[in-house]
Amino acid sequence: MRLDKFVCKSTALTKAEAIVHIEDGDIKVNGNVNTDISAQVHENNEITFAGEQLSPRPFRYLLMNKPAQTICSNIDEVYPSLFNYIDIERPQELHIVGRLDADTTGLVLITDDGRWSFNITSPNKLCPKVYRVHLRQPIDISAKALFAQGIKLQGELQLTAPATLAIVDDKQVLLTITEGKFHQVKRMFASIGNKVVGLHRESIGCVTLDVDEGQWRYLTVDEINDLN
Ligand code: URA
Repeated sequence: MRLDKFVCKSTALTKAEAIVHIEDGDIKVNGNVNTDISAQVHENNEITFAGEQLSPRPFRYLLMNKPAQTICSNIDEVYPSLFNYIDIERPQELHIVGRLDADTTGLVLITDDGRWSFNITSPNKLCPKVYRVHLRQPIDISAKALFAQGIKLQGELQLTAPATLAIVDDKQVLLTITEGKFHQVKRMFASIGNKVVGLHRESIGCVTLDVDEGQWRYLTVDEINDLN
């Protein structure tokens, strides 16, 4: 981790304040003053500030049930950020693991652990995400085989990874995908001539949505480890 980030994660200092202290020579790494804010440091290094040893706060892992007309961003834009629903200290340190569109509802994971979120979003890790999809037209049964083989989305060179389609009724399906391309679910159905009119993420790996819309909770240790 960068030295400025390490100092922020170990103190109540803002990034700007941490940079001033580092550049003023107030931070020592393994006994030596280090004024390089971008120096790479590790938890095993002894890092001190005014003689006090620093240790970063533990990572945080949350789930939330995202309401429609909110955005997966740390700041408000056309719609309010879903962080408005999360009363938590230092929300600016957190990021969203696999963003949903403004009109999509359901499970969102939130953390400050970049390595953990990479394991969930990287297509190579094959972490399954389940979406409940409401369609404008009745589903054509041939979609099952097409999605299982992989389909070519408009503007993409590679086929989508194999996806599983379970039919709930003629206009409602459960789709399981292991990737997170831009607007992927909507584009997959567009490519077979249908249209998504409602989209809700129900689960990511072993984690299933179990809080009401707009509510959040911390993940359990088992959930954090299972997604690792
Ligand atoms: N796929 C989409 O098209 N939209 C989302 O919000 C999530 C997946």
